[in-house]
Formats: sequence, structure tokens, C-alpha cells
Amino acid sequence: MITETSFVLLGTGTSAGIPVIGCDCPTCTSTDPCDRRTRSGAMLQFVDGDGNARTILLDCPPDHREQSLREKIKRCDAILFTHDHVDHTFGLDEVRRYNALMGSPIEVYADARTRECLERVFRHIFKRHENVNDSFVADLMPRTIEVGKPIDLYGVRFTPLRLLHGRLPVLGFRIDALDASGGIAAQQPSPLPLAYCTDVSAIPPETWPQLRGVRTLVLDMLRYRKHPTHFSLDEALSVAAEVGAHSTVFVHMTHDILHAELAAKLPDGVQLGFDGLRIP
Ligand SMILES: [Zn+2]
Ligand SMILES: [Zn+2]
Ligand SMILES: [Zn+2]
Repeated sequence: MITETSFVLLGTGTSAGIPVIGCDCPTCTSTDPCDRRTRSGAMLQFVDGDGNARTILLDCPPDHREQSLREKIKRCDAILFTHDHVDHTFGLDEVRRYNALMGSPIEVYADARTRECLERVFRHIFKRHENVNDSFVADLMPRTIEVGKPIDLYGVRFTPLRLLHGRLPVLGFRIDALDASGGIAAQQPSPLPLAYCTDVSAIPPETWPQLRGVRTLVLDMLRYRKHPTHFSLDEALSVAAEVGAHSTVFVHMTHDILHAELAAKLPDGVQLGFDGLRIP
């Protein structure tokens, strides 16, 4: 059984990042560190049943280097991608440093569409034999995942969930700890079971059963006003109430959200995420 489980929000901002370039609004000029949001990504850290520390990344945003330095990340055992958007994938080049530190390749899990995008954008990594110089590039092992087919990594089960990001089908992940026989552990270490649902504007019917009973829900909440590809505040609050997790944490926020202003108004059990938040 895993121990010392910790889920960390590495970034909590929307695609532009906060502060937004050239913006003088109250959030972008705020001195509250919670109003500084790098692009959205997260990690699960734990000690596996054999006593090895493990770090698994959910997405790899363009700010990954800054996030890694801040959280002092020294290894990466796997990366799971939710979808192919730039704000969730363009940090992949940085993980070569973990290859050097660990002396081993990194497994990268993505659906077929995201894999195609990664292999096209990061051609120098996935087709390194075509590089003119034998440069230092990441050493990755791509794996295809699909909805409903769980991946078990070091005593933790990651179940890909179908979410809709506007018209784009993307993935969320439900995370459960496994017991010694490889089944879902009856006693889950907090903050598990956890569902990570970034970049979502609708939850299809088949996904609801997977959200029931989670202790922690990490959920997209872009801004106050409606948006075609992300949940607004009212929509996210309604999903949070429906799921009824012990703790719901909002991520992927724009500069419309001034942390201190909204944080004070949220119902019990719902909070705004911020960069570096370790969910207990
Ligand atoms: Zn995004
Ligand atoms: Zn602004
Ligand atoms: Zn997106």
C-alpha cells in the first residue's frame, strides 16, 4: 500500500497564465501570491509499497520548469496527459532533466489524438534518429490510453474519464490507491480517491458514476461568465454539489478571479486552488 500521499497543484491558471501579458487589472497587478497562476498541471507524490518515492505528473504545461524548481521535483515516473492543448503539453521538453537525474526513460500516457500531437510537435524527441546533431533530448516511452481502461502505476490506479471540453472529447483521471492484491484499497489514503477534471465544460452521463464517492474533486472553473469550453463559477459549483466530495478545489482560472475576493464567498468544502497547494 502506498504511503505519504500528496497531490500538488503545480499550476492553476488558464492558457494565458496570470498575470496576463500587458494587463493592468486588479488580479494581474495583485501582490497576493495566490493571484499568480502558472498554466494548469498537477502531480501525485507518494511512497510505493517497496519504499520508493514516486512522482507522477498530470499534464506538462509550458511553465513546468518553473513549477519543478519551485516544488523541488527530482524525479518523474510517468506523465499522464488530459488533452493536446498547448497549455497542457508544451513543457514536455523539460523532462529530459529527470531522465538525466534518474538514468531511465519516462512513460508518457495519452490518448491517440494527444499522442499524435505530441509526436508531431516534439518530433526531435520521438524521431531523434532524424536529428542533425545527437543532441540531449528527452527519453520517453509513449503509451496509448483510452476511457474506461485503467492504468496501474506503482500501487495507484489512474482511470481515464471522458470529459467534454467544448466539442473536444478530453480525459480526466480518477486516482485510487491499490491494496497488496492489486484491487482498489478499502481504506484510501487522503486525498484519494481523487478526480482531476481540468478543461471541462460538460460531464457526460457515463462519467458520473466514476465521480461518485471521491474524497477530492479538482475541477475546472474558468471565470464568472459562461464560456463554451470551460465551466463557469455557477456551473462548477453545481457540479461540486452534485459530486459531493469532501473537498472540491477549483483550477484553470482567468484573471477575472481575484483570489481573496472569491475565496471568502465559496461554500464549505469548496476552495480556490493556487500554485503549490498541497491537498491534504
Ligand atoms: Zn487548458
Ligand atoms: Zn489581468
Ligand atoms: Zn484545453
